[in-house]
This record gives sequence, C-alpha cells and structure tokens, in this order.
Amino acid sequence: MTQSENPVIRDDDDKLHEECGVVGVWNVTDAAAITALGLHALQHRGQEATGIVTHDGVRFHAHKGIGLVGDNYGDAKVMAGLPGTRAIGHNRYATTGATLLRNVQPLFAEFEFGGLAVGHNGNLTNAHTLKRALVRRGCLFQSTTDSEVFVHLIAISLYATVLDRLIDALKQVQGAYSLVALTNDMLIGVRDPLGVRPLILGRTHGADGSGPGWVLASESCALEMVGAEFVRDIEPGEIVAIDRGGVRSLKPFVPQKPRFCVFEYIYFARPDSIVDGMSVYAARKRIGSELAQESPVEADLIVPVPDSGVPAAMGYAERSGIPFELGIIRNHYVGRTFIEPTDQIRHLGVRLKHSANRPALEGKRVVLVDDSIVRGTTSKKIVEMVRAAGAREVHMRISSPPTTHSCFYGIDTPERGKLLAARNSEAEMAALIGVDSLAFISIDGLYRALGHQGRDAADPAYCDACFSGDYPIPLTDHAEPRDAQLSLLAELA
Ligand code: SF4
Repeated sequence: MTQSENPVIRDDDDKLHEECGVVGVWNVTDAAAITALGLHALQHRGQEATGIVTHDGVRFHAHKGIGLVGDNYGDAKVMAGLPGTRAIGHNRYATTGATLLRNVQPLFAEFEFGGLAVGHNGNLTNAHTLKRALVRRGCLFQSTTDSEVFVHLIAISLYATVLDRLIDALKQVQGAYSLVALTNDMLIGVRDPLGVRPLILGRTHGADGSGPGWVLASESCALEMVGAEFVRDIEPGEIVAIDRGGVRSLKPFVPQKPRFCVFEYIYFARPDSIVDGMSVYAARKRIGSELAQESPVEADLIVPVPDSGVPAAMGYAERSGIPFELGIIRNHYVGRTFIEPTDQIRHLGVRLKHSANRPALEGKRVVLVDDSIVRGTTSKKIVEMVRAAGAREVHMRISSPPTTHSCFYGIDTPERGKLLAARNSEAEMAALIGVDSLAFISIDGLYRALGHQGRDAADPAYCDACFSGDYPIPLTDHAEPRDAQLSLLAELA
C-alpha cells in the first residue's frame, strides 16, 4: 500500500463535491491498467484516495492509496502486483482532511462462497440504523464507510448464492448508490431503485478472444478513455451480473419512477459525458441559454467562472448576443501543493486558483456565469478580484436554482445553516457577494432546459432536493433523535 504525504489545497473549496467514482472491468487484458485509466477519467468524482482490486482467475490482489490516481498507479511495481483480467476500482472523496486508509474502497472480505470486493458511489440514508443492528448482532466494523454495511449484510444473509445474498442486502438499505462488486467468477453492477447516481455499461475487446470485454463506470467519459464503446445506462433498480455466460440483467425491486440527480447535469459530471442519454455539455449550454432568457442584463461581456461555468456562459452569451470572453484564467496546477497549507497560504485563497484577465475586463460591464453558490465565500472573492481588475459593473448569473438544502445522497454539502441561499434572500446574497445584480435559473427553467415543460411538483422527473427540499428517499438516520445518533457513534468508536 502506498500513502502520499503531500497536503492538498482544494481548488474548489466552495463547491459541492461528488463523493466517489467507480469502475469495473471483465475479461480485458491488463484489467488493472484499464481500471486505472477509467478512474483517471473519473478523477473529478474523488481526489483523496483510490483503490483497485483485481482477480487473476485464482486469487484477488489489491492496492489502496491516499492521493490521486496518477500518484498511485504510475508505479510499475504497483501495477505488477495487480494481475488479472477482471477488476473493480474506486476514487474517493473524503469529507475530513485525514483519509484513513481503512476507509479506502474497494472493501474486500472472504465468505464461505469465496472473496467479494465492493465499491460504491453514493450514500445510504439508513446506514447508522443498520450499523446499530449489525453491531448488536456482533458484527465488528473496521471502517466508517457505508460499503461495509453491504459486506456485513451479505455475510449474515441466509441465502445460498452471492447474487441472492446481495439482493437480500440491497432490499434492507435505503439511499442513493451505484455499486460495483467482484467475486471469484462474476462482476456485478447495481444502481439504486431511483437511479439517483449514474452507472453505465460499455463493451470492449475481450482478453480471451472468445467474447467481448465489459466495462462498468460512473460516467461515459471513462469509456472514451479506455476505448470502450457505450452500450447503455444501467437502469434504476437494475443489477447486471457479468460472467463467462455474458451479461444478465436482474430487476429485483418494485419499479419506481426514476429520480436522477439533476446536479449531475449542472456541475458534477464531466461535460464530455453522456448521462442518462443526454450530453452534459449540451445540457449546460441550454441551461445557460434559458438563464439568459429568464434574467437578461445590459452588459459588455459574458465571463465564465472557470472551469465549471464555461458551457453555461457559452449558452448565455449565444442567447444574449453579448460577447463571451475569458476574463478569469484558472491555474490548473493548484490541487496538490509543495507548500504546507498554512492559514497565510489559505488566505491567498482564490488568487491561487484564478486570476483576472485585466486587459479584457478593464472598464467593462461584466456578467459572471457560475454553476452554483454554496457558502458564497469564493463568489465574493472572485467579484472583488474582477472589480480590482477594473470592471465597471459586475453582475452574476447562476446556472442552478439557489442551493437551500443539504444533500444526503452522496454529495458532500455543508450543513444547511452554512448554505448562503438557506439564510438569505437573493437581494441579501447580492449585497453579501458584492455584485450589482444576481439571478439564479428558476427550477422550472432548469427543467425546461433539460427537455421538460417545467417541474411537475407532484411527480418531479429528477432529484432536486438541494433546491426544493423534496427528498425522494427517506432520511431515516436523520429522523433519529440526536442522542440516539450520538450513542451509536460511541458504540461504533
Ligand atoms: S440532493 Fe441535490 S446533489 Fe443530492 S442527489 Fe439530489 S439533486 Fe443531487
């Protein structure tokens, strides 16, 4: 196992963060290398730690490390220790500074039916409740990840086959998850019943010459990276079991109306991905166009807050007819630093990541386009920087509705009280950030940009809980009295 010592200065501290990306491959030459490349394409979904488990036909092999994919799998010795034609891999985003190696996925356990490695993207909303019951039954938890809940539920299941045990476990969990698992003779992919988190299936050349190779991944950009062809999205509530016989599809859950995470289109997914049948890049441009239609402003320039604001700013510029300019330049080499992140360095904040393009901004009325405002701290600094570079007016347009609620489905969000939009009106936010005007896309406008008539309040097409407070999956753990949660945490410590 390897462990990087380098500290990380996040380059997007004031954003919501995806908590994980997953990859699984079956019957491909150099499964570990293909998995590592797929994880590299999914690096935006988690930068703190990564792990790969392979199977060589006889036994499992594993590597887990803190840091980026490139920090871990650039070492030939590490790759030589991961032989086989089947693998699963995971990128992790952790909410605390110290990522414990024991929390890094995939998790691995030996059962009577053989070994099982599991990695997932998402969050279980009844994990604490299940953990309490499992601890009382004598289960010993070695990590604090929800994946270990799956492992224990599978261990105590009375069913005979691994698939039946997994289904038994999945029927007890609530939450949003996309899961990949590897057994001695099978690769498994699962998407939660509402399909909140994404998972796709791709096909590539088979290692044994007798059949295709298969790839599961959080996003299609991972398939592009490894030269695999997109086959389809795994359906909400679907389990795919891939073995020598090919791909089998199981649908053990009661069918429900899907509620895919709308924020994947706004910010999380990579713009070159196709998510649930829609180009993320095209969706973001349409959202920007809708925003221009809803909230026009007299200005000289449309300037994206890079990188995530770029497609929406292009859409806004096209619709408004105002020129698009790169008025803010992003430094791409900030994420990992050789400097200890002292308070003084942190104070430099936004200037480490973004700099104003003074010649473009001087004397201009500027519309800054960004994807979201979370705490508002970065927005305020960017506005100060753009004004200091000579902009005459600074307006801000946001390609998401106001983020008023926390996410409990696998996205790291500050508690509700820290969300700027939860505490302030639009006018108050404009004053706090220091802009001449501020507007967010409406929730109906967002739905229109994604091809709907608007938001059907009785039956929304997406999960949009961080904008609406309408949580489609019960928040069982959060309904517990606080002292019950604290006593559970003490039990688990
Ligand atoms: S609450 Fe927001 S970020 Fe979380 S899954 Fe729903 S739409 Fe996505």
